Amino acid sequence: MKLIIGNTNFQGVHPPNICPHCHVANNPKYKFAEQTKDTDGEDSNISVWQCASQKCLRLFVAIYKRVEDKPKLIRFLNGYPKGPDFPKPIKELKHGELDENGDAIQSKFIKTYLQSLEA
Ligand SMILES: [Zn+2]
Repeated sequence: MKLIIGNTNFQGVHPPNICPHCHVANNPKYKFAEQTKDTDGEDSNISVWQCASQKCLRLFVAIYKRVEDKPKLIRFLNGYPKGPDFPKPIKELKHGELDENGDAIQSKFIKTYLQSLEA
């Protein structure tokens, strides 16, 4: 299994060894991989795998990055950005209102969005 991260073509990459759907340890089937960047702009590679358990067979998405010169599975992706990486116009909503202490009030949108990420 090979993965390209940044300008490096890594060989012999270990596939994810557990399925994030059924949590059964297995050797998932490789489907797809493409070099890309994470939401913070870091070089990374996103790959799609299929669980080898016959009861599951679900697809999942993993992101690898280069850590100490080796490809490392960082996390599974659910399609959301990794955290509160909001585009600038949305971030600035925070600064629209101040509370009685003069602190910026977190906009309702950001609160709701963060709550829905955790749900
Ligand atoms: Zn599974």
